[in-house]
Amino acid sequence: MSFLNILNKYDNFDFEEYLRSVDDEMVLSSLEKKRLDDFDFLNLLSPKAKSHIEALAKKAHEITVANFGYTINLYLPIYISNYCSSDCLYCGFSKKNRIQRKKLSLNEIEIEAQEIAKSKIKHILLLTGESRAVTPLKYLCDAVKILKKYFSFVAIEVYPMSQEDYEVLFNSGVDGLTVYQESYDKKIYESVHISGEKSNYEYRLETPQRGAEAGFRNINIGTLFGLGHILKEAFFSGLHAAYLSDRYLGCEFGLSLPRINDAEGHFKPNHILDDVTFVQIMCAYRLFLPRVEINISTRESADFRDNLLGICATKFSAGSKTEVGGYTKAKTEPQFEISDTRKSDAVIQRIQNLGYEPVYKNWENI
Ligand code: SF4
Repeated sequence: MSFLNILNKYDNFDFEEYLRSVDDEMVLSSLEKKRLDDFDFLNLLSPKAKSHIEALAKKAHEITVANFGYTINLYLPIYISNYCSSDCLYCGFSKKNRIQRKKLSLNEIEIEAQEIAKSKIKHILLLTGESRAVTPLKYLCDAVKILKKYFSFVAIEVYPMSQEDYEVLFNSGVDGLTVYQESYDKKIYESVHISGEKSNYEYRLETPQRGAEAGFRNINIGTLFGLGHILKEAFFSGLHAAYLSDRYLGCEFGLSLPRINDAEGHFKPNHILDDVTFVQIMCAYRLFLPRVEINISTRESADFRDNLLGICATKFSAGSKTEVGGYTKAKTEPQFEISDTRKSDAVIQRIQNLGYEPVYKNWENI
């Protein structure tokens, strides 16, 4: 059974009516449970649960400390190409945008890696636009081998691939995969992914599973908040993470909560995720999925991220650049605007001041 079967079960489910029907008793009952079912999770996502946000945050914090301690995993992104063969309305790299295109040579990747490695962080996320032709498998494998000289953990966020191609990347040293579904609502998905490979909803939906089958030890998923109905998207993201966690016990899964930030093309989100609902969703994820990593990127502001740290976030990017060659040359447009522009040392210092231990390296393949 694929995750699509689970999504299909909710085809005729009236979310609006259910969410309206959730009362205090239902929220409190779900808050008390040790193991939540799908409807407990939905109760905690409901508008009614907002009046219990302090209790929700307290419980989310306790579960996080019990499972992760006072730690925060750190990583840095490296963009090595912004060529893309897809047209996605919200993304600066869309093929329709007239931006300067750049693909780093292997030598340039090495120089960029050396610059990034001056920070203490040993976890790197390699990103490209989604162009199979410009950044083929061989190029990605060569890039990974270079990064492996400087970093102990290499994850990728590139175009979705077959299990066989992921196995090749795994054997080249890739440890983790990030792939966001962006929207679990097929109609909305198709309305914002206009053309190119990314417009294939089902293929993308099954990508994390192919990655887990290929052997990656860490997989990060999520929805891009702003495209679809906020609570439904959060619900399906959580179900997707639960589905994967239940089937691939040797793999760690993570959830990100990216909100649309401005990018070339100036796409206006159809739905706005406000800060309080953001916290509510993050806490509901934690109660539903106690062991799942929760990743907060530099899309969010410094103050907001620092506050989330004390609740239930477990993973941060720090000192990120979203331009190709951003750490050394910064000649291209960013994929999206970042909000937390602090250097990695400043983020690390703040994490320590808040009583948390920054984790620079949590994996070494031997
Ligand atoms: S979201 Fe990905 S596939 Fe879509 S335009 Fe941006 S880089 Fe290309």
